[in-house]
Formats: sequence, C-alpha cells, structure tokens
Amino acid sequence: MEKTSTGVWNSCLQIIKDNIPAQSFKTWFEPIKALRLEGNILTIQVPSLFFYEWLEEHYVGLLRKTVKKQLGDSGRLEYNIVVEKSSNSNPYTTNMPSNGNGAEGKRQSMPVPVALNKDIKNPFVIPGLKKLQVDPQLNQNYTFDNFIEGDCNRLARSAGYAVATKPGGTSFNPLMLYGGVGLGKTHLAQAIGNEIKRILPDKLVIYVSCEKFCQQFVDSLKNNTINDFVNFYQAMDIIIMDDVHNFSGKDKTQDIFFHIFNHLHQSGKQIILTSDKPPKDLAGLEERLLSRFKWGLSADMQVPDLETRMAILKKKMYTDGIELPNEVVEYVANNIDNNVRELEGAMVSLLAQATLNKKEIDLNLAKSMLKNFIKNANKEISMDYIQKLVCEYFEVPVEMVKSKTRKREIVQARQISMYLAKSHTKTSLKSIGEFFGGRDHSTVIYACQTVEDLIDTDKKFKAYVHDIQKKLRMS
Ligand code: ADP
Ligand code: MG
Repeated sequence: MEKTSTGVWNSCLQIIKDNIPAQSFKTWFEPIKALRLEGNILTIQVPSLFFYEWLEEHYVGLLRKTVKKQLGDSGRLEYNIVVEKSSNSNPYTTNMPSNGNGAEGKRQSMPVPVALNKDIKNPFVIPGLKKLQVDPQLNQNYTFDNFIEGDCNRLARSAGYAVATKPGGTSFNPLMLYGGVGLGKTHLAQAIGNEIKRILPDKLVIYVSCEKFCQQFVDSLKNNTINDFVNFYQAMDIIIMDDVHNFSGKDKTQDIFFHIFNHLHQSGKQIILTSDKPPKDLAGLEERLLSRFKWGLSADMQVPDLETRMAILKKKMYTDGIELPNEVVEYVANNIDNNVRELEGAMVSLLAQATLNKKEIDLNLAKSMLKNFIKNANKEISMDYIQKLVCEYFEVPVEMVKSKTRKREIVQARQISMYLAKSHTKTSLKSIGEFFGGRDHSTVIYACQTVEDLIDTDKKFKAYVHDIQKKLRMS
C-alpha cells in the first residue's frame, strides 16, 4: 500500500506521543499538519517560525528518529512555515496564524529544510517588524531608595542591587527572594525592575505575578494564542515573577514556564523570582523547575528587628510628609513586630483617625487606636524590647550588653535583662543566653539567681528592677 503524508506523520506522532509529556505533545505537535510526501521527504506545516525553532531546539532528535523509522535511513523532514508578514508586536493583540488552508490574506508559505535557518532566533526580530515595546507593569513607588536595609534583608538587597546594575551578568540567575508575607519581597523585586529601567531604559523588563501568568496561560490556551504568549515572555530581557509558590499544582503552566525559563536563561537574560518559601520547601512544583530555581541565588528576607522597623516607619513618615512623636513611633514598632505591611497599615490608620478626630496623636491615643492591630494585648514582650528598655534605663549602649565586657554597670544591665527575659517571655534559657551575646544557659541561671538575691538584699537595686518592670507593663 502506498504511503501517504498523513499516514506517515500519524505513525510518527504515535511514537512521539509516548516519549514526551502530554501537554508538550498537545502544544507542539497537535497543531502540525502533514503536507506532502515526495519520495522519502515528508513535509509538515508548522504555524510559525517560532514553532519551527522550538521544534528544532527541543525535539530534533526525536523527530529525526521517528522519521527514519517510518521512511528508512534516507528519510528526511522538511518544514513548511506559515509566516505572518506584517504583525502587531504586542502578542496580546496579534492573532496566532492558524494552520488552516493558508487562504487568509497576509500569509505566505516558506519551505525550510531541517537545520537551516538557525540564525532566526526570535520572531520579533524578523526584518520589517517593529521593535517590541513593553510596559514593564512596575509600580514606580517601589525603589531601592525607599527600601530600608537591615540585617533581615541585607543579602537580598545587595544581590538585588547587583542584579539591577548587571542584569544577566551575575551568578545570581535566577535571583530568588523568599520570605513571609509582608516582608518586602514585592517591593525589592520591583525596585530591581525600576532600577534596571532607570539605568538601562532599552531593556525589556516585565513584572508579572505568578497568578496573572497562570491566568494569561489559560486564556491563551482558550484563544489559541499560546505561541504569542510564549513569544512574548521569551522576548524579554528581564522577567520578574512574583509569588512563584502559586505555581503549586498547576502542571501545565509550570511546563510552559519551564521552557520560557530555559530559553531566557540560555540567552543570558535575567530571571527574578519571589516566593514564600525557599525552593527546597516549595510543594506542588515539578522537580525540574525547582532544580532550576536553585541554580542562582536564593536570598531570604526575614522579619526586621526593632531598629529597622523604626527606620521603615520614619522613612515612610518622611516620604508622606507627616510627623509623629517618637514615643508613638516606638510604640508602633515595638508592638507590631512580624510584618512590615501591618506596621505601615497601623500607621496609616493612626493618621486617618487623628485627622478625622482632629486630635494630636500622643501615646495614649495611639494605644487606644491600635487595639485592633495588636491582636493580643497581653502579648509576649520581645527580648529586643527588654534589652532596649534596660539599656536606656541605665544609659548603657545596647551593643555593650551583648559584648564580653565585665564592667560592673554593663554586667548589671545584662543580668537584669536576662532576668526579665526569663520572667516576661517564654524564651528558653538557651535562647536567652544566645541572644545576650552567645552565652550558655548556665550563665542565664546564674544571672537570674544574682538578680533575685540582690532584690532581696539591696533596696536600691530592687527599686531599679521594679521601675523597669513598670515600664515593661506599660508598653
Ligand atoms: P511581600 O511581597 O513580601 O508580601 P511587600 O513587598 O508587599 O511584601 O511589602 C509590604 C509593605 O512593606 C510594602 O508597602 C513595602 O513597601 C513595605 N516594606 C517592606 N519591607 C520594607 C523595607 N525594608 N523598607 C521599606 N519598606 C518596606
Ligand atoms: Mg508580595
């Protein structure tokens, strides 16, 4: 029986189907049409140059094998590419050329022998097409300038800055910023994008949340514009994807992002990701994608310490042109200690209420207004705060308490801090010791014993401790 192009191609497809993931098969092989079979040359029609390039890059081995299996060792494959002659450079308004009968106007067919045309790297640079312009979708308010540096974010910030000045040119690719909610991941990721646009305005930067990316992917499947979708992201110089933990369970979208990631990474483009967990703890993500996330640098963003929280609040006040008494700022920073977003929220709400009530904000007003923000009024006092209070009381520098010095007044401040930490927090003796300058738990036991003895025997000392305890309770 004489072979037909469709018959041969269908046999090829049977084999291909067994060798690649179902989604890849659907995306890259179902749209192909068998055109003709001339001798041992099978010609297939693919919907775009990009499509052809993709097949050549990813499936050439598989295609060669299957074609040879059907047509013998001399079997060859040729492509017929449907080319859009003029095109709108925005993939969201461009229709992907369908693999119909080629009757729709603006099209031409172009036979391309296998392994030629390797120089056509990207459909966006086909002569005659305008250079792609993209709105990076960045929020201009997120900059390095207004991102406060602290121990909690130093690595992430400096890696981010390095990436911003040399996108694709550092070993931080991808740069993955991870940490809990409201700790500045989005701010920093966007600051990188804004900085790149500022110093390298021609770079194509795109910021996209993972969720939006997933939605765009679903839409493009529905509208049969998957090529445009992939083209668009592959044409970027810098992609910033926020909250990649949201890929969890979305296998198809992960698959497509995996290919986009590879393409960008191979071409030296910069990838910046944020996530609520480090790559090793991300559940529901394919191993191959996770392994790529680990290629560059993962930098964590932690809860800022008291000093950094105060600095963030002060910077925000300065930017917004407002003033609050220092004790109010301190109160807010002290009591909202796990999330920068809540910290800012508390201050905004404080200001709003003060404006409405036409009252000056003092500590008492702040306390009564912030009840909603401070979930547990009797919440545990932090060791940071105890240390600060004790040091202020005795007028000794905070760093000295953590140092090795045996000066009398420092030892006293250190021992009282340890005693208060033991009685006012649920922290273990071991952690208390570590906090106050890396000491062991027996030092803490000894400190507590000494303080108790002195309270019993030294009236002045007793008064000090009671004074500080009163201040602690007031906070
Ligand atoms: P995440 O993305 O980690 O949930 P965001 O980046 O949205 O957190 O940060 C929440 C809010 O806190 C934003 O308004 C951001 O500007 C602010 N913020 C977080 N960290 C800092 C910081 N180090 N300096 C200044 N503002 C910060
Ligand atoms: Mg965020």
